[in-house]
Amino acid sequence: MKLPDYVKKAIQILEQNGFDAYVVGGCVRNFLLGEPVSDYDITTSALPEQIKAAFSAYPVIETGISHGTVTVLIHNNPLEITTFREDQGYSDHRRPDSVNFSKSLEGDLKRRDFTVNSLAFNERSGIVDLFGGKSDLEKGLLRCVGDADERFNEDALRILRALRFASVYGFCIEEKTAASIIKSHPLLSYVSKERILSELKKLICGKNAEGVLLDFCKVICFILPQLKTNAADYKKAVSSLCRLQSDFSLRFAALFCFVGEPNAKEALKSLKCNKKTEIEVCLLLEFLNAPINTKADIKSLLSIFGKEQFSSLLALKRAVLNADTALAQAYAEEILQNNECYCLSQLAVSGADLLKLGFKGKEIGAVLKLLLDAVISEKLPNDFNTLIEHAKEQA
Ligand code: ATP
Ligand code: MG
Repeated sequence: MKLPDYVKKAIQILEQNGFDAYVVGGCVRNFLLGEPVSDYDITTSALPEQIKAAFSAYPVIETGISHGTVTVLIHNNPLEITTFREDQGYSDHRRPDSVNFSKSLEGDLKRRDFTVNSLAFNERSGIVDLFGGKSDLEKGLLRCVGDADERFNEDALRILRALRFASVYGFCIEEKTAASIIKSHPLLSYVSKERILSELKKLICGKNAEGVLLDFCKVICFILPQLKTNAADYKKAVSSLCRLQSDFSLRFAALFCFVGEPNAKEALKSLKCNKKTEIEVCLLLEFLNAPINTKADIKSLLSIFGKEQFSSLLALKRAVLNADTALAQAYAEEILQNNECYCLSQLAVSGADLLKLGFKGKEIGAVLKLLLDAVISEKLPNDFNTLIEHAKEQA
């Protein structure tokens, strides 16, 4: 495994101070999978105070010092360094009651969630694989370290991490692990909505989302109780979802295509999703069945969606309704190329012009909208004098 220089440097500093140090978890997994590595985590026998002392020449941030984690900045690269840990007691099904520092790497690897995430590496020892993670990676199998029921009972977030890894990397979930996920899923009520949403986003956008959403529909419907649908519609929605690009709003809208916008909105609100995504999803569902037959139809949709999201709407129509969108696309290209007016900023008159005519406050917005609608539907040309005359008639 080839490590970046700043990571090598950190391991070297810890070793020179008499400690063991390894990169661990996701970075080793992704290296072996040939997937990009987003961040390197280091696990070490050094205690937090010893880590701080070893890196006294570098900026150190005490991120999670009570859990043994210190962030060190090496040549401007942040690196999380964590003391070997064994977690104890998980009475809230989410976080350990206490963290015990461990003398051995083995103790630390044992607390990790899945065998493929329990691999460690340094240049002295090569890959350290105590739980068969390498062979599981080769087989594409996701398996808990130790007893699956116990591991999900300790921390229910692992249930969604499992589904997320299976979706993103295309792993098959090993039989006992899968059975335990189905059995343990009600424990997800102990997991915060924010964490559920963050895992769900990655899960829905993964390359194997279809398999995971179908095999674990019970879990999905538990975290999305608003997805009230029958098995046949659920299956259809999932298969449309998988024909779409990996975009959360778009795929989420496809998943809710049979249950409608109010349910999708409620689901996103209850998972504390950001407003922008909520609006994107709701618009997509609200206009899923909007006509796209005339140029006026397309201009009106462009004015609501903007260029990018309009493409998403067409993609959703193709995936869910099997709609033929060729003509709509051709119209949109023509409108954009000829700079034909479909939004207020392109309209030949502005709010300031209406102000000069004596319109006030809310009237201005209403008249502008009326003029835009008339231009979009080709009842009026986008011409200053014509629009001003028409505006005067509204006074
Ligand atoms: P990615 O960063 O790509 O999401 P990752 O595997 O690196 O994947 P992190 O959340 O960064 O995931 O966690 C780093 C490592 O810490 C994991 O590989 C795993 O070994 C361990 N880990 C993380 N969360 C848990 C958990 N809830 N239970 C047990 N071990 C965990
Ligand atoms: Mg990581």
